[in-house]
Amino acid sequence: MKTKGYAAKSAGALLENYEFNRRELRPRDVALDIYYAGICHSDIHQAREEWGPSIFPMVPGHEIVGKVTEIGSQVSKFKVGEIIGVGVFVDSCRKCASCNAGLEQYCVEGMTGTYNTLERDGKTVAMGGYSDKFVIDEDYAVHVPANLDLAGVAPLMCAGITLYSPLKNWNAGPGKKVGIMGLGGLGHMGLKFAHALGAETTVFSHSPEKESDAKSMGADHFVVTKDIKNLEKLNKSYDLILNTVSADLDLEPYLQLLKLDGTLVVIGLPGKPYSINAGTLLGQRRSLAGSMIGGIAQLQEMLNFCGQKNIVSDVEVIKSDYINKAYDRTVASDVKYRFVIDAKTF
Ligand code: NAP
Ligand code: ZN
Repeated sequence: MKTKGYAAKSAGALLENYEFNRRELRPRDVALDIYYAGICHSDIHQAREEWGPSIFPMVPGHEIVGKVTEIGSQVSKFKVGEIIGVGVFVDSCRKCASCNAGLEQYCVEGMTGTYNTLERDGKTVAMGGYSDKFVIDEDYAVHVPANLDLAGVAPLMCAGITLYSPLKNWNAGPGKKVGIMGLGGLGHMGLKFAHALGAETTVFSHSPEKESDAKSMGADHFVVTKDIKNLEKLNKSYDLILNTVSADLDLEPYLQLLKLDGTLVVIGLPGKPYSINAGTLLGQRRSLAGSMIGGIAQLQEMLNFCGQKNIVSDVEVIKSDYINKAYDRTVASDVKYRFVIDAKTF
């Protein structure tokens, strides 16, 4: 299937127009016309090889929403014309304990990413969502509630689920104090979800100008992190802190914010290892954890929750020729709050 998209040809190169072929439909595949694709900071990390060697040419993009145009002979989950979403992975082993538990992102053999990886045949390079068409096995796509703005839905497929999943896993809700570090694509979704779940929510940000936006998205408190004294006075008061910061950062002052049995969950993946003071962890029986996206069942649960609460991402819709500029602005924390590419412009 002829597909038009945008690709990076080498590490750090500007992305440019790129045409390629997607597979013809297998019995359990659906084909979709992509409407929107979000720009996640993970796309930038990988296109710039900040996580180690990548595969080029790379068509990034794992926040995809579009309309089904064709279905394989055995497809039962979707119909032609339906709006569906595709996220960060397109397959997994389907038989390990994680896959059986609906936690395909933690597949023991490794999930198959939406791009920058080989598909399970071991030879086809997966090409992502910065493109006009997509083909996916029906088990790895989800239904999109009809009431939601579709540009704002695309980022839910990664940014949304990546924050929804730890908030649910660590029981964010009424009576809990939750902190969100970084008000970017992931962070602003974490704020919206923590607020909707009833938690008292604080945003920790190095961008003072984001305060009014944070408050209008439901933040109870906004703390500017440039002056560490702003943090110290809050020590030992948080149940849960989610770190979405995309840059290297000292976690120590944030671990100090946790109260007895509190947990700091690392979500941002800048690349360099963190240095942790063991005394800070054992002093209040604190936990340091990690969390990666969410499984297909929870992705559907999150979309249904968004449909009920009318939650979508705040987006800046762009044309394909703005992708390189959008990358630079994202790295500069200058986006409100997710760039989304209009796929008609490929
Ligand atoms: P983003 O939109 O660029 O947001 C990152 C935020 O981090 C910025 O908005 C900024 O917030 C803060 N920040 C950036 N540079 C900073 C600096 N030098 N010092 C302090 N704060 C800084 O990125 P994103 O798409 O949300 O992704 C965030 C991270 O999560 C990335 O590393 C990405 O790869 C990772 N990620 C992980 C998963 C997972 O499953 N765990 C999934 C998707 C993405 P303020 O302006 O408010 O300070
Ligand atoms: Zn992502």
